Amino acid sequence: MPHPNDPKLPGWSAYLDRLEEESHHEEGHSVVRADTLAAQPQPQPQPQPPLVLPARPVSPTDPRWLQPAWIAKITLGNWVYYFLAKLVLYGMELIAFHPLYNLALAAFILLPAPSVFWRRVKRVFTVLLALALLYYDTWLPSITRVIAKESSLANFRPSYLLELLTRFVSWQAVLALFAGWVIYRLLSYWLRVDWLVMLAMLLLLFVQFPLPGEVTSGAPQTANSRPDMEQVVQGFFDRESQRSVSLPVPDSPAFDVVIIHVCSLSWDDVRAVGLEQHPLWQRFDILLSHFNSAASYSGPAAIHLLRATCGQQAHEKLYQPTASHCYLMGSLEGRGYEPQLALNHNGKFDDFLGQVQTHGRMPMSPLALDGVNIAQYSFYDTPVYDDQSVINRWLTVRQKSGSARVALYYDTVSLHDGNYLPGGESLPNTLTTYKARLQRFLDSMEKIMQKLDDSGRRVVVVMVSDHGGAVRGDKRQIPGLREIPTPHISLVPAGIKVIGGGARRAGATVTIDQSTSYLAIAHVLAGMLEKSPFKTGSFAPSAYLTDLPLTSFVSQNENTTVAEYGQRYYLNNAAAGWEDYVEFNPLSGKP
Ligand SMILES: [Zn+2]
Repeated sequence: MPHPNDPKLPGWSAYLDRLEEESHHEEGHSVVRADTLAAQPQPQPQPQPPLVLPARPVSPTDPRWLQPAWIAKITLGNWVYYFLAKLVLYGMELIAFHPLYNLALAAFILLPAPSVFWRRVKRVFTVLLALALLYYDTWLPSITRVIAKESSLANFRPSYLLELLTRFVSWQAVLALFAGWVIYRLLSYWLRVDWLVMLAMLLLLFVQFPLPGEVTSGAPQTANSRPDMEQVVQGFFDRESQRSVSLPVPDSPAFDVVIIHVCSLSWDDVRAVGLEQHPLWQRFDILLSHFNSAASYSGPAAIHLLRATCGQQAHEKLYQPTASHCYLMGSLEGRGYEPQLALNHNGKFDDFLGQVQTHGRMPMSPLALDGVNIAQYSFYDTPVYDDQSVINRWLTVRQKSGSARVALYYDTVSLHDGNYLPGGESLPNTLTTYKARLQRFLDSMEKIMQKLDDSGRRVVVVMVSDHGGAVRGDKRQIPGLREIPTPHISLVPAGIKVIGGGARRAGATVTIDQSTSYLAIAHVLAGMLEKSPFKTGSFAPSAYLTDLPLTSFVSQNENTTVAEYGQRYYLNNAAAGWEDYVEFNPLSGKP
């Protein structure tokens, strides 16, 4: 409280002094002052120019407003900053804002507390409620779950951890919050800003839907118009459990199958860095442009791929054994193929190799990489081998093998977030280098295909990504985080290319833009086993696309599902139930 004799407060000192005496037992709350004021004859404040007078901030409930006591009591106090800050962040689309809950919290703050004890109790509850609501509004659960999941966070390279942290901080947001604070302080001289804030929340309650975002249809979205997604997804998995592709006895001439599983590459990443026109895409004979990887983490995506001969399984089923005909490599093995495994990393992160060996049923050891070139180091400081060198090593081993048919599963993390070049900690931000890394990767895929062609072997290459790198992030997840398997993360490139043996494709690349998933890859492979594309020297890709199985978009992680229905996307995370997912960043048309 100001000192009664403070020379800066000439006109107010005696008055405030008296108020202090009257209300010291009430902790000096301004509301109490106004209350007391209303019960007594009003002292006349001496007229002063407002910009000279306030050496300390003037509360909106300051007695100079001469407002009735009941009005002065309706105040959020300093909590107005809490709501104001959240409204600013909501305006910048950095957080969500649930007006009903926020209004409820405001109403709780407005409740009068009859005594000091109750005021203290109320304050504790207000802080707890405000923290809980902030947590809910900011979508933080996904972030904390990621951190909990990535239990080996301690193994992360410190500079990568720092880089991740800086992605959380938006300097524009810091500036906007500061500007909001300044504007509040100025306005509060003339206006009841806390009332404006409450009014804004009330208005938001009525106009919040549809949320700003990328929605394909302009129709309003309300909670009531949402389909019963629980039933939609249950029906999806019921139907998927009935679907499978059986691999036929292979036709001749024999060919190898090389599956290149690319970590961290989605169509949204490709668009984000402007590489949609890279020649590799047109090199494929069949390109699935709406392929759902069904997960946004490497392990589950690899299991989905390695169980491609059956329909999509729910996430939790991936970690239980399934029917033997559902294992892609096992099915190929049953048709005379020798399954082989290669990684361009040690496979230890998140026990990737263990997941592939156990749940993808590829128990063999991966290709030995001693002496192979190291192209990068991972975010946990282990070697990431050069893709061309790994495939060259495999080719060398393959040429010596007596197997008539080999099926290789090769997993590459060359595009993973946080990779850095040997000897260089200097990369400013691995996301900003994504374009250069992707360009180099797509170029190297072209060279690998050329090398396979030059080797004289007959090969069918399947290049498919496990999930995107979330290069742009969206309004709900910072770049690089993949806890929510949005279509921007799990709609990924999948291409099939027939190489060698003099096989010529009739016509151009066939692009399938309908919703597909792993079963479509199994279908094409089954077709090629049945009728070898190397048989006549020329093949039509469309011959392998008859009755191509389509698959609706359902993408999952542990506790999180994103599903499409009626061209809208819906999110379920165990805590909150189903909600609309509209927080896409609008760079690129349809997700
Ligand atoms: Zn991955």
